[in-house]
Amino acid sequence: MTMKIKKARGTRDFLPEEMWLRDFVEKKIIEVFETFGYRKIMIPTFEHSTLFKIKSGEEILEHMYTFKDKGGRELCLRPEATASVCRMFAEEMRGEKKPLRLYYSCPMFRYEEPQRGRYREFWQIGIELIGPKNEYSDAEVISLASLALKNLGITHKLEINHIGILRNLLRDLGVDQKLQSRIMTLIDKKDPSLEDFLKKNVKKDWEKILELIQLRGEKEILARATELLSDHKSCLLSIEELKRILDILDYIEIEYEVDMSIARGLEYYTGMVFEIKAEELGSQSQICGGGRYDSLIEILCNEKVPAVGFAFGFDRVVEVVKLKGLNFPEKRLDILVVPVSEEERKDAIKLVNSLRNNFIGKLSVTLELMNRSLRKALEYANSIKARYVIIVGKRDLENGKVTIKNMDLGKEEKINLEEITNFFKEA
Ligand code: ATP
Ligand code: MG
Repeated sequence: MTMKIKKARGTRDFLPEEMWLRDFVEKKIIEVFETFGYRKIMIPTFEHSTLFKIKSGEEILEHMYTFKDKGGRELCLRPEATASVCRMFAEEMRGEKKPLRLYYSCPMFRYEEPQRGRYREFWQIGIELIGPKNEYSDAEVISLASLALKNLGITHKLEINHIGILRNLLRDLGVDQKLQSRIMTLIDKKDPSLEDFLKKNVKKDWEKILELIQLRGEKEILARATELLSDHKSCLLSIEELKRILDILDYIEIEYEVDMSIARGLEYYTGMVFEIKAEELGSQSQICGGGRYDSLIEILCNEKVPAVGFAFGFDRVVEVVKLKGLNFPEKRLDILVVPVSEEERKDAIKLVNSLRNNFIGKLSVTLELMNRSLRKALEYANSIKARYVIIVGKRDLENGKVTIKNMDLGKEEKINLEEITNFFKEA
């Protein structure tokens, strides 16, 4: 009896060609992270569910893969990394010198409705800068995200806000924490029911919230926000903070748009927040999200440690690279070794073995294993775009030679067996 088993909904298989591209894109991003002095970490695939109940927000909780293990512990597959990295810091890294510059690259799990650019298992590559609390660290993180995309040739749009502006306004208007979260979620999702909700739940000045989130544009709109919020001192402090960050972005020539409606789905943000979009993706255009979270670590270890970070939605970044057809090198087999008949197989095996030993990590070398005739083997080599075929034949061997065929040029030459290493060193 056969059983047809399909992959679970929202998961994907990645075939070799796809993995080659994904690894290439990952390398391009990581190379920029390392240029900025960030060091790689790895977090566990599952955590105690409580970790994400602290401050990740209702949207994340709704989508979490939660389960009980055999010991009755309530665990979940990680839906995002920041809470885990903070837990790791609190548990393992408190003694280390700050700032800590950390990055990760791993899958996340969310029970969402699968569609293009949205999966149940998806990858995030992100960073956390732990320790400093100033505009330079915020600007560092933003410029890092921007340069990583530039390194891939991805044109993108950066949108920035300061969560303190909205949060402080809501607090001043007497909105409690729980209601704040609801409102922030509605704003984040651009939910059309927001206006009615505000009318019903915010007693006075609810129009101010609507006016505020409509502000978007260049740095000048900070002046408009200052006017609008002149009675709300703590909002003005947040606007000032945002302005200092934008000043730095101006002098390192990073383009941005201020968008006062950016609320972020995650609840732990306390300061600057940003999102990056790539036009090519249509409705799932957000490829990066991040911001400052100065109180999350304190909850986990009773020590006030500010931090700022972001995560790329890696699958979406890869999608943009594909859509734009950006240049990336092709993965090819370097050498296929073909014995003309079974008689020469032993010599072919010896040759493959010596090439592999001499070119570890430099050349890929395989032996024909399907008993193909020479003609079929050459067809096969063509179809997989192998660079060279080495033909091991009896007559050549008698003269201490083999035939090397350059598949790109269609040219053959006979080479002494002792010369082979040199031949490929030069090629
Ligand atoms: P969205 O609004 O698209 O759901 P989000 O606000 O939930 O995004 P974050 O939690 O900030 O996203 O995660 C950062 C990035 O991870 C997003 O910008 C997006 O590119 C990517 N991402 C989030 N959820 C998914 C998913 N289910 N599948 C693929 N990528 C995702
Ligand atoms: Mg989401």
